[in-house]
Amino acid sequence: MPFPSCTPGSTNSVAIDDLVRRREILSEQENDPESKFRLANQPMTLFYYDPVFLEHETGGHPENAGRLRAVMRRLEEYKVHANFVMPTWKPATIDQLCHVHTAEAVDDIRKFVESGGGQIEQDTLVSKQSFAAATTAAGAAADAVRRVLAGEDTTAFCAVRPPGHHAMQSHPMGFCLFNNIAVGARVAIELGVERVLIVDWDVHHGNGTQATFWDDPNVGFLSMHRFPFYPGTGAADETGAGAGQGLTVNLPIRFGTSPKNQISQFRNAVESLADKISPQLVMISAGFDSHIHDPIGSLELESEDFTTMTQIMRAVADTHAMGRIVSLLEGGYHPAALAESVECHLRALSTGPGGHAETSQNG
Ligand SMILES: [Zn+2]
Repeated sequence: MPFPSCTPGSTNSVAIDDLVRRREILSEQENDPESKFRLANQPMTLFYYDPVFLEHETGGHPENAGRLRAVMRRLEEYKVHANFVMPTWKPATIDQLCHVHTAEAVDDIRKFVESGGGQIEQDTLVSKQSFAAATTAAGAAADAVRRVLAGEDTTAFCAVRPPGHHAMQSHPMGFCLFNNIAVGARVAIELGVERVLIVDWDVHHGNGTQATFWDDPNVGFLSMHRFPFYPGTGAADETGAGAGQGLTVNLPIRFGTSPKNQISQFRNAVESLADKISPQLVMISAGFDSHIHDPIGSLELESEDFTTMTQIMRAVADTHAMGRIVSLLEGGYHPAALAESVECHLRALSTGPGGHAETSQNG
């Protein structure tokens, strides 16, 4: 029995006001000769997916290719991405990876994979195509950022694996090889963006992303996660350092917290950090392992809660960043719940009336 579809027309009280406000902001910024970046001509959603992601083989590990197969089956069944633009792109370059990771870490992963793969760290398996999959995943983030800033579209979603947010500068960690979202954010900064907001709602703390931008004045990082929980970091008093002091925000959630309470805290924290830094680009580490059915994370969120959180992110992006959002898949280990949650996220991310994809009418 499939999960019920994330049907168009569900509760969405903010959408119309937001769309009106967004048009006003867009027209103001369109007329601003100082504006560095172009606006999207045909706002839909860029959708990144490549079959090479299925070739990162991990056997019976929870982070396996069946996750993405379930997502793609569901999106095809409900025609969610029928009219989305699906770009082609190149894997991240070594230079792009080395804006986040050490050259030694990149080389160690490549060599380990080439030597036949296996268990590269406590929780992470790799196979012979894992380096290709991981560089293609990081490359998707880089390409999505570039295209969104160039005005090819307003929003992008990268249906990638392996995930990235635990990957550290010097080593893989927690199912992650390269920190995809960090690679994307660094590309944005290279292209001249001065303030990026990364919001990580995966059930696990985004420790790799936090470490990358810990003292970086250009990137605000907010993680909402179950706590205490893997990987152990993410307490509320971890707030950054140096020029990045106060730009890291951790929102630890105790097991048993109601979705209503969790989303209320999320809204307040996201809006507060966004008001503080006024981001020019918003990025999401979209993990869906806080879903009530998830075998690993299991807070109490249901698929529709990801619609609400996406709407909150859209409102923030509309207010500050001309609507620009680049979202990347992180965790989510119940294939059917993941697929339904991604569908909800995508419908809310795309720019049809009511926060739902135009194509949803056909689904
Ligand atoms: Zn996770």
